[in-house]
Amino acid sequence: MLTIQCAACKKKLWKYDKIGHGHVVRCHKDRIQRMYNAEVISHKIHCSCGKEIGIDKGCHYRMIANAFTHTGTKRNK
Ligand SMILES: [Zn+2]
Repeated sequence: MLTIQCAACKKKLWKYDKIGHGHVVRCHKDRIQRMYNAEVISHKIHCSCGKEIGIDKGCHYRMIANAFTHTGTKRNK
């Protein structure tokens, strides 16, 4: 499980079940386990500090590079 964090303020955004060892380019909504300090405003997902983290593409968020960091582990399929 990964914990996605805001690169600007370091707050936790959500927990994400990442499959495979590639970069986190998008986050599938059905694998987001828990939301913390994130909210969607006009098709973009923001941290509570206002930083844009990703773009709502329907079934996933396309993540903005350098807007977030993550800790934790990815899992193999
Ligand atoms: Zn933030």
